Amino acid sequence: MSDVKLQDIRKAFGSLEVIKGVDLDIKSGEFVVFVGPSGCGKSTLLRMIAGLEEITSGTLEIGGTRMNDVDPSKRGIAMVFQSYALYPHMTVRENMGFALRFAGVPKAEVEKQVAEAARILELEPLLDRKPKQLSGGQRQRVAIGRAIVRHPNVFLFDEPLSNLDAELRVHMRIEIARLHKTLATTMIYVTHDQVEAMTLADKIVVLRAGLVEQVGSPLELYDDPANLFVAGFLGSPKMNFFKGVVTASGNGNVTIELPEVGGTSIVKAATIAAGTTVTVGVRPEHFDDTGPAVLNLTIDMLEHLGGETFAYARHGSGDLVIIETKHGRDLKTGETIHAKFEPERALLFDAAGKRIR
Ligand code: ADP
Ligand code: MG
Repeated sequence: MSDVKLQDIRKAFGSLEVIKGVDLDIKSGEFVVFVGPSGCGKSTLLRMIAGLEEITSGTLEIGGTRMNDVDPSKRGIAMVFQSYALYPHMTVRENMGFALRFAGVPKAEVEKQVAEAARILELEPLLDRKPKQLSGGQRQRVAIGRAIVRHPNVFLFDEPLSNLDAELRVHMRIEIARLHKTLATTMIYVTHDQVEAMTLADKIVVLRAGLVEQVGSPLELYDDPANLFVAGFLGSPKMNFFKGVVTASGNGNVTIELPEVGGTSIVKAATIAAGTTVTVGVRPEHFDDTGPAVLNLTIDMLEHLGGETFAYARHGSGDLVIIETKHGRDLKTGETIHAKFEPERALLFDAAGKRIR
């Protein structure tokens, strides 16, 4: 059993509270990603789970045991950081076995564990090399290998891929996903990169300024965000937002005037009083050739990615609207387009940013 439970966890550095009461239930074997902008408290939260940072208040349980005051080495966790921190004078084999040798594990057992980790991570041909003879991705794999040999109940990753170039990041992301499938161990992974969060997680925890904004599977959060922050944070290119005023509602539809865009939109949502100020959110891929909402836009720039095209267009107030279009190859900069969307494609948010369903 290696479920992880956080109850009203808080962290203050002096008078500055940076984690402001986090409740989380992580199931045994789950891959959970903490995502959020830089400085929101992801590393601090992870380090409290690891025992590298004292918990100011609240309760942390791992496998049903209270861990607040347990030494990091006794928590059954292993952590992988952004910086690999390998010992330069040791070979891959020695680096991977170091923690076990240090703990007094017999030599034969260390060798067995290192061989097993090397097999899983495809590091066998590199076992006798020194870190400087490895690529960045290989070094990161050794750092992961160092964690694997310890057979932790919970793996903790803090932005492990941030030092790698884009191509290698994608490659390592797939390796980490594969590793989770192979080991089926609980993993908690911190990143500021929403693509990593979307692709790796069973469950995403979106953090902002020391608080949890929403918890859910990647597609739950993408399709059904609880607020403007989550809606805007997940997805690339980002969701478009338009200011509007409700003019009528009933039968599950709300009619909204969009003064900035000079259009009207109909959105599926509960009844809202006329005159209420709202924000309408539409993802780039949710614009279409049909629908009762029409935005008249001028194309500013076209981004042809081959399979798809993103049109960066402007409306009356001059703000950019990003549209994924099927007709990209026929469009020209400066041209006017009429972007439409169906009521069920748009999301609605109140003045405080909370979703109206
Ligand atoms: P993230 O990993 O999400 O980028 P961190 O957890 O590193 O964010 O930091 C969260 C907040 O806590 C930041 O405002 C940071 O400046 C602050 N912080 C982190 N560590 C310390 C520390 N040792 N002393 C004071 N403030 C800290
Ligand atoms: Mg961090």
